[in-house]
Amino acid sequence: MSAGNGGGSLVGRQDLHCHTDMSDGHLSLERVVEVARERGVQVGIADHVSSRNPDFMVASLDEVQRYLDALEGADVFRSGEFCWCDTLWRDLPDEVMDRFDYRIGSNHGFWLPDGSTASPWWESLPEPWRAQPQRLMDIMVANLCDMVRTMPIHIAAHSTFMPPAFGALERDVHAWWTEEREDRYVDALREGGVALEISNRYRLPHDRLLRKAKDAGVRFSLGSDGHALKQVAALDWAAETARRIGITDAELFVPEPRR
Ligand SMILES: [Zn+2]
Ligand SMILES: [Zn+2]
Repeated sequence: MSAGNGGGSLVGRQDLHCHTDMSDGHLSLERVVEVARERGVQVGIADHVSSRNPDFMVASLDEVQRYLDALEGADVFRSGEFCWCDTLWRDLPDEVMDRFDYRIGSNHGFWLPDGSTASPWWESLPEPWRAQPQRLMDIMVANLCDMVRTMPIHIAAHSTFMPPAFGALERDVHAWWTEEREDRYVDALREGGVALEISNRYRLPHDRLLRKAKDAGVRFSLGSDGHALKQVAALDWAAETARRIGITDAELFVPEPRR
């Protein structure tokens, strides 16, 4: 990896969540590498590896192998963003999963008791959830805990993101992320050995959860979730947040490149 840290802190110098046009990003792999180098940031490519949308995602075993071939020819960490609500991560053979330097899991949809899925992007709550948003929040947190305990991942991306419908009902994040839910999620992260992403794109998690995670010995990663030129390898908010919480290199998840 050529973009070194110049001997200073790694905080803000590693963007472990970047997209390219191999999934739904706007820039080619080559362009992302150039931009990251200009910005002095080491970059991990984490395109969507999921069968949910074959047009915009790395969606089959063949495509995953071609994707990894491309990453292996570039000066980047090799990763993928896997959907909790998809089956592809369960179906890929171990030798393919092992080609990733690290893997990211994301709640792009979570399981409801009847086997259907809910969306963390719901702008309004469908029936029967309209009258029981706190119950839906409990189900979402239970899904996140299951995700970090059972999915073969190293990082949970933008994991505290909540349906906008919740924010429309009550803006205070602590009304949803209560201390009890935070504690449950932090325990699961620690037990699963999964790092908590500080998302520059979504500006989360909130400080109280980050402080609890830090006290519990959970590790962190910084991710732009960049899809476009302005976002890629840009970590201003995430780095400022990590410093505010007192996160140092010792608390960062740092990938070991498989070379
Ligand atoms: Zn995502
Ligand atoms: Zn992403």
